[in-house]
Amino acid sequence: MEINNLTISKIREGFLRKDFSAVEITEEYLKQIDKKDKSISAYLTITKDLAISQAKEIDKSISDNKKFSDLAGVPCSIKDNILIKEIKCTAGSKILENYIAPYDATVIKKLKEDGAVILGKTNLDEFGMGASTENSAFKITHNPDDLTRVPGGTSGGSAAAVAASECCYALGSDTGGSIRQPASFCGVVGLKPTYGAVSRYGLMAFASSLDQIGSLTKTVEDARIVFNAISGKDEMDSTSVELNPKSQIPNPKSRHRRGLSMPTKSSILDKVGTKSEQIPNSKFQIKNLRIGIPKEYFVKGIDQEVEKIIKQTIKKIEEQGAKIEEISLPHTEYALACYYIIAPSEASANLARYDGIKYGLSKNKEENLLNVYLKSRGEGFGAEVKRRIILGAYSLSAGYYDAYYLKAQEVRNLIKEDFKKAFSRVDLILTPVSPTTAFKIGEKTKDPLSMYLSDIYTVAISLAGLPAISLPCGRVKGLSVGLQIIGNYFEENKILDIASFIEKLVIQ
Ligand code: GLN
Repeated sequence: MEINNLTISKIREGFLRKDFSAVEITEEYLKQIDKKDKSISAYLTITKDLAISQAKEIDKSISDNKKFSDLAGVPCSIKDNILIKEIKCTAGSKILENYIAPYDATVIKKLKEDGAVILGKTNLDEFGMGASTENSAFKITHNPDDLTRVPGGTSGGSAAAVAASECCYALGSDTGGSIRQPASFCGVVGLKPTYGAVSRYGLMAFASSLDQIGSLTKTVEDARIVFNAISGKDEMDSTSVELNPKSQIPNPKSRHRRGLSMPTKSSILDKVGTKSEQIPNSKFQIKNLRIGIPKEYFVKGIDQEVEKIIKQTIKKIEEQGAKIEEISLPHTEYALACYYIIAPSEASANLARYDGIKYGLSKNKEENLLNVYLKSRGEGFGAEVKRRIILGAYSLSAGYYDAYYLKAQEVRNLIKEDFKKAFSRVDLILTPVSPTTAFKIGEKTKDPLSMYLSDIYTVAISLAGLPAISLPCGRVKGLSVGLQIIGNYFEENKILDIASFIEKLVIQ
């Protein structure tokens, strides 16, 4: 069976035509993992038993002629910082090497309700800190397009798994670019939703005001299907909001799209058609759509070839009738510095819970409590995580709080204002995702600053909490280039509509 070009809807069609069963398709993906993952190393854990039992359940429902949802029976993978009940969840860290998740993250609960088949957990930079998936305590993931190169990070395992067809789609998390940049490097579609559009309950916290779960998929249509499945208000995450299906402005009055009760077998199948889906806008018009190109994103440092491809794509969109205008986001140059104060500050607080007592690795044979902490954290955390904790603790410390953390929050507001002003003039903003294509393994590991620069085009969007997608739009020497489409708050639908239009335009 040829699985390399399968998408969520093609698998669904296959089920309806009885071309294959859910168990058969699951076995095909498991075979592909067997064949390819030795060289790619996208996965940390394979959940074969779980996958097969989920697939069997869907096959039974299909043979009973019950309705089934878009994701039913479709094999996926999950970044290893998202909890799946009774499955190991490491966050790519030695400190959680043997940690078994006690409950399902809300996104997993939703996927299970939809009948998803979960093939395994994917590799990541430890606790989501990095830009290449080289900071995992366990293995380095390789870019399927060129095994000597990184897949990007930190959802590098998820992006590589989708690119190599070791799953049909994957979940990742994005704090400063970790879905978009690996999607760009691996040539897949990566959607980072608006902060609050998807529940973070059960996502291991890195920087809580920035973390967001999203998808890595082969197509824009698949991104929409996964977004529909995982988004919505969750009472377990007070920052999550309900989405209004038409305007996608959060609707405070509407009830939760789905209850939080555990799914029953029939609920997997019966609720199709009842949920408030984000549907493609059939009236979508490229003509007169106002698109902003921020001049600050096309400056020194961007690879010439990457810039050329992005500009060619913008040209093609203009030729279709869109109104392209140059805009300015004047505080862009401070975004990286601002991010590297705020994210480590929040990380230093969030990671305090790993004390060798409550969770994971415990060096509890020490003569006193302090040494239990020091030994457990000293041996459990990798270098980048320690660097962030030190940086964050310093920025938050009494004498420096005003100068660093508070200042960074002020800058964050200025960055938000930049976008607010821009969106009063334009509907969408286009930029590159990354200044370069996938770099060589080892190229930036000795120089943290050059690694941080990898996210120069993605962090501002995270600081503002806006939604954005990374869409493959061309290649340089065989390596993928991603176009970033940024929308206003909760305008995922608008982003997906234009992304789907551009997707067709660049394939032609
Ligand atoms: N590269 C950024 C960092 O290291 C972003 C990571 C992420 O989005 N999780 O913090």
